[in-house]
Amino acid sequence: MPLFKVAIVGAGPAGYFAAQALHNLQNEERTFAIDMIERLPTPWGLVRSGVAPDHPKIKTVSKVFEKIAADPNFRLFANVEIGSDITVAQLQEKYDAVIIATGSSLGKTLGIPGEDLPGSMSAADFVPWYNAHPDFADVQVPLACDTAVVIGAGNVAMDVARMLALEPSELDTTDTAEHAIDALKTSVIRDVYISARRGPEHAAFTSPELRELPKLEHTNVIINKADIDTAIVRAGDAPEKDVKSNLDAMLLIADSQKSEHERTMHFLFQHTPKEILGTDHVEGIVYSTPNGDVTIKCGLVVTAIGYQAAGINGVPYENGKVVNIDGRVKENLYVVGWAKRGPSGVIGTNKSDAAAVMELLVSDLKATKGAGDISELLTSQPVIDQIAWQKINEAEVAAGEPLGKPRLKSVKREEFLKLAGM
Ligand code: NAP
Repeated sequence: MPLFKVAIVGAGPAGYFAAQALHNLQNEERTFAIDMIERLPTPWGLVRSGVAPDHPKIKTVSKVFEKIAADPNFRLFANVEIGSDITVAQLQEKYDAVIIATGSSLGKTLGIPGEDLPGSMSAADFVPWYNAHPDFADVQVPLACDTAVVIGAGNVAMDVARMLALEPSELDTTDTAEHAIDALKTSVIRDVYISARRGPEHAAFTSPELRELPKLEHTNVIINKADIDTAIVRAGDAPEKDVKSNLDAMLLIADSQKSEHERTMHFLFQHTPKEILGTDHVEGIVYSTPNGDVTIKCGLVVTAIGYQAAGINGVPYENGKVVNIDGRVKENLYVVGWAKRGPSGVIGTNKSDAAAVMELLVSDLKATKGAGDISELLTSQPVIDQIAWQKINEAEVAAGEPLGKPRLKSVKREEFLKLAGM
């Protein structure tokens, strides 16, 4: 029976779901040997370094990933970067198919004056900082100011605003990076504004995220009722289900009895960022609004307005995505997930997306190549394989247990190698 060799570049949800889909497409005519290659010492992509630490349920999908990885024909090659030492073209030569599943790691920018000032940063830096991503441990987040502003009306903006507005001891029992918990405990930020450039009826939040806000134990959440009332009128008699659900959730917050906590999260609508103020650091932000310009004094601005894919040599990119038609890139190269369709959808969206691309991949397969695999290309770098990763995983979970955390995350590459016994 032909055994096709497939390399998946990127060990995030899209990569695992592609592996799962290939597994499900095996039959008497074909089986697959899958090599998953990851730049970081750890797999799981955004499930480890993107999902908010106070959303542990979302992370339970990692159990599915580990089940996929337990297949005898699956191998992990973490701590291996594609594009520099090893090229995509080399992989294409050795494997019957190569799948790019590298996501979108770069934050989009506003293109307004002041955006480069210290104190203005992208969620693409802030989120991996609090999630212990090895490349972002040294990000400097100014927390010695009373007000922070988060730009964007999507779930990433919501995660960022919540992380800044939470009472930080609430993070003690989460897998938030220790360096972030320590820093957030020193934070004097008490007001966090989350700003949308359009009205509430256009917000990209999803309603479960809005509905959990009133459950915050130490944070007031303020939505101006008039904003929601006028949005309901604009949305008309038959708004889409998601819009109605969002407006209902926002109305509930606007109508609820005000709490008197020290920390407050404020929602601003129809506020378009115009300029970030300051000379050597952020001192405020100017918005244009239907009622004229509005200035908010603040020391931190986090932009959460979407992502684009970082390039890999040998892969064509356009408009922040890999150039593709339905996931086909060129020759035996394919793409799945955010790198394919842009940064949209929840983790589960990648399952059906990857399954559709794998159907196409399978329909393109011809005779097997049998031309070797990545192990022949690896020279000096220490590779973290599935067994090494399992050691790391178990050590992190064990270290978290006495602290009441799901895991105590390591941050530095050397720490991971040590935990893996390498
Ligand atoms: P998103 O949902 O696309 O939201 C981006 C937001 O940025 C929109 O509100 C957009 O407003 C705004 N924006 C874009 N350009 C702007 C500009 N120049 N100025 C001001 N605002 C601007 O993206 P995301 O929040 O990065 O999330 C990415 C995906 O991950 C989404 O599908 C999200 O649901 C998902 N996610 C899910 C969860 C969860 O399930 N808990 C958590 C995090 C992320 P306009 O609409 O006006 O363009």
